[in-house]
Amino acid sequence: MIVVMRTDSTPEEVDAVSQRIVERGFRPELSSGEQRTVIGVLGSPFPELRNELSTLPGVSEVVPISKPYKLTSREFKPENSTVAVGDVVVGGEDLVVMAGPCSVEDEEQMVSTARAVKAAGASILRGGAFKPRTSPYSFRGMGVDGLRLLAMAGREAGLPVITEVMSPEDVETVAEYADVLQIGARNMQNYNLLDRVGETRKPVMLKRGLSATYEEWLLAAEYVLSGGNSQVILCERGVRTFEPSTRFTLDVTAIPSIRRLSHLPIVADPSHSSGKWYLVSPLALGAVAAGAHGLMIEVHPNPDLAKCDGPESLTFENFDKLMGQVKDVARAVGKVPAGAYS
Ligand code: PEP
Ligand code: MN
Repeated sequence: MIVVMRTDSTPEEVDAVSQRIVERGFRPELSSGEQRTVIGVLGSPFPELRNELSTLPGVSEVVPISKPYKLTSREFKPENSTVAVGDVVVGGEDLVVMAGPCSVEDEEQMVSTARAVKAAGASILRGGAFKPRTSPYSFRGMGVDGLRLLAMAGREAGLPVITEVMSPEDVETVAEYADVLQIGARNMQNYNLLDRVGETRKPVMLKRGLSATYEEWLLAAEYVLSGGNSQVILCERGVRTFEPSTRFTLDVTAIPSIRRLSHLPIVADPSHSSGKWYLVSPLALGAVAAGAHGLMIEVHPNPDLAKCDGPESLTFENFDKLMGQVKDVARAVGKVPAGAYS
C-alpha cells in the first residue's frame, strides 16, 4: 500500500508516518514527486494498517497497490523516472543511444569503435568483458582486461560506458570501471545478483529475460529498487517465440505496455532481438516510434571478424546511416534526437 501525503503536509508529519510504518514492522520508502509525496509500505501490510495510517496528521489517503511490484509501479510513482549516467539522462526528452561491440577484443577495436559511434551521435559506449555464452567453448570475454580497455576507450572518446556483470562477486570490480551495470537476459532472475546491484548506487540496465512476462521483469526490477537503488533502466531485447528465422522476436508491444505499468525508462536492443544486421535499423526505428527512451546497438569495425555476434553487428558506415534515420523518427515523435548536442 502507499500513503499519499497531503500537499500541505510538513516534513515532521512525513517522518511520523514513516516512523509508525517502522514500528509496525514494515519498511517505508519515500517518493517525493513534483505532484505529491507518497510513502510506500514495503512488506505484506495487514489491512488494519490502512485505517491506522489514514488517520495520522498530514495523510491524504492510503491506497493499496494492486500490482505485485510496488516501487516499480506507476501507481507508486506517476511521473517518469530518469536515470543520469554522467551528463547523459535516460528517460527524459533525449533519445539515448548506447553502441559498441558485443565483446571487447583489443585496444584498436575499442578505440576506433568508441570514436566512430561518438561521431555518429551515440552517447554511451558498450562492450562486454564477461560474456554469457550458450556454449562453454565460445569466446567468454576478456574479463578485467576487457573492463580496462572499455573504460580507456570511453575516456578517450568522452563517453560513459556500460558492460555486463554476471555474478554477485564481480559487481564491485565491474562497478569500478562501468558507469552502468548491465544485467543480461539470462540473469534477469538471478536474485542474488539483483540484490547485490541493488546495494550499489550505480545505474543498472536490466534486460528482459528470454521468456519473461512483464510482471516477472518488473518484479526483477523491484529487487533492485527495494535494495535501495532506484537507478534502473529496462531493456527490451526480444523474446523467444516459435519463429526460428530470427534469433528472438522484438516485442515492440512491451515498450508502451511497460511505460504504462512502470515509471522506469525503457530502451530497446534490436541487435540481440533479430540476430541480423539488416533487421537492426527497421526494428530500431519501430522501437523509437513506439516510445523507447533509447537504443542499444552492436557495432564492430569488421563484423566478419567479430569474436561474438558478428552477424548482427553494424559496420561504422551502417551505424552512421541508422543514426540519421533514428534522428528523423525521434524528431517525429517529439524526442530530442541522439547526438543532437554533440
Ligand atoms: C549483451 O548485450 O551483450 C547480451 C549478451 O545481451 P542479452 O543478455 O540480451 O542476450
Ligand atoms: Mn552480443
